[in-house]
Amino acid sequence: LRGLMMDRPLLVSSIIDYAAEIRSDTEVVSARVEGDVHRYTYAESRRRIAQLANWLLDHGIRPGDRVATLAWNGYRHFELYYAIAGIGAVCHTINPRLFPEQLVYIVNHAEDRLLFLDTTFAPLIEKLADRMPKGMRTVLMTDRAHMPQTGLADPLCYEDLLAGQPDHIVWPEFDENTACGLCYTSGTTGNPKGVLYSNRSTLLHTLGMLVVADGIGLRPGQSILPVVPLFHVNAWGLPYAMPLVGTKPVFPGPKLDGASLFSLMDNEKVTAAWGVPTVWLGLAAEMRKQGRAPAGLEIVLTGGSAAPGPLIRELETEYGLNVVHGWGMTEMSPVGSLTVLDQGMKKQPHDARLALKNSQGRRLYGCELKIVDADGARLPHDGVAFGELLVRGPAVMSAYFNDAEASAASHDAEGWMRTGDVARIDPDGFLYIVDRTKDVIKSGGEWISSIDLENAAIGHPAVAECAVIAAAHPKWAERPLLIAVLKEGQTATADDIRAFLSDKVAKWWLPDDVLFVEELPHTATGKLSKLQLREKFKDHVLP
Ligand code: ADP
Repeated sequence: LRGLMMDRPLLVSSIIDYAAEIRSDTEVVSARVEGDVHRYTYAESRRRIAQLANWLLDHGIRPGDRVATLAWNGYRHFELYYAIAGIGAVCHTINPRLFPEQLVYIVNHAEDRLLFLDTTFAPLIEKLADRMPKGMRTVLMTDRAHMPQTGLADPLCYEDLLAGQPDHIVWPEFDENTACGLCYTSGTTGNPKGVLYSNRSTLLHTLGMLVVADGIGLRPGQSILPVVPLFHVNAWGLPYAMPLVGTKPVFPGPKLDGASLFSLMDNEKVTAAWGVPTVWLGLAAEMRKQGRAPAGLEIVLTGGSAAPGPLIRELETEYGLNVVHGWGMTEMSPVGSLTVLDQGMKKQPHDARLALKNSQGRRLYGCELKIVDADGARLPHDGVAFGELLVRGPAVMSAYFNDAEASAASHDAEGWMRTGDVARIDPDGFLYIVDRTKDVIKSGGEWISSIDLENAAIGHPAVAECAVIAAAHPKWAERPLLIAVLKEGQTATADDIRAFLSDKVAKWWLPDDVLFVEELPHTATGKLSKLQLREKFKDHVLP
């Protein structure tokens, strides 16, 4: 028996319409590339989004066309998200930190028809101009007065496009499964792979986040600073969730160092900030300098890679902040789990609460998790058994965009998506990411978590950053090798580090060798590039 309710499509455009009507006075604040701070309301934003959408339609952009962006977090980038999706086209966000080769690959693979870019990135695109798709126009995201001298062929000016257009639009209605966004994973091996989000998946992911809205700082009248970029994985869903709730975005623009973020948070009374652990290491250093947290800051949401335990402890204990640790991936829209605690858990002793925050949290509504052994058989959620983690849900990818080869191995026979992570799950549903399948160290049939070792080592007062990789061993097949960057002016020996670790990890986990380097390689999303490290140290002989 079918229900007798309306079958209205779940469209991204409905979000900005709701915000313009119900959250009309809520501010949107942006630190701009131009150097100043811009502010307007969701109602004004909707009018400019309509102007942009009208221009896109005039310019011949049709449903399904890909329109690319290469930009920092700011209101114009936010407008692009809605104007492009609103007319049924696809907003393809590009990560400017990709290698030029990868950037050329994805723009051509996506067959982008237009590229909107911040002036910062004009020199980058100039250099690659002859390798861009034929006929692709570029639009510089600024006004006439700030148009730079560039070698780009006939670039358009963003504010000029809007100027002549009506500030109203009635959005077209179409199937909710229509694509609205495209994001490529940075591709640690092979070519980047495209994840094509739909209007429906985006709405359902957003609503899933709103189930825990209060715990992650999505509150009406309060503000969130998304350090997590609009150019990668939809800034973890913030551009959709904030307008619905009536949360004020404070977009940081290009300056993401600890001092700049601190002063922006202070000035705008930011209540929650979202970003990767590297950003919080920078902010923590600034807080130490100033002896306080930014005024009003309550929640720090960290994700994208494992948050070091000592960082969580410092933010919580020294500065009274509430750290929320999240896990997800591009293929999952991207949030999979968050350490939002129930009332009872919040009342637990400090250390017990911190232990929960060192997990990756509990699953988001709409996202199912399973762990399996080497034969694909399900493992119990007993907090002990660990194995490959697979996920399923309406905001989880079913196949990569135009990439049959990559899609072939991405799911199991039951249709669950492989995450490439190894995890355990406890009876309360807390997820613990043990490692990436590629990074775990297989020492004589037992597994050593590179993440746990790194998190322990980062607690050493002289260590600024570190990575653990597997080194070949004649007897044990693989043994852990720790590679560390020391803090400025600090010294430590391999034996110091091993002695420090000896009461923190099992004896057989202790790294066989510790090397010190000037810096560690990172991927385009700021994560340690263990692939490059393995390449570099593949011939290292353990003592
Ligand atoms: P990219 O490297 O392109 O940014 P993703 O953002 O999709 O790719 O990376 C997803 C992966 O990042 C996950 O599969 C997991 O290995 C890792 N990851 C994300 N968040 C966490 C976390 N909180 N703890 C540990 N690993 C994480």
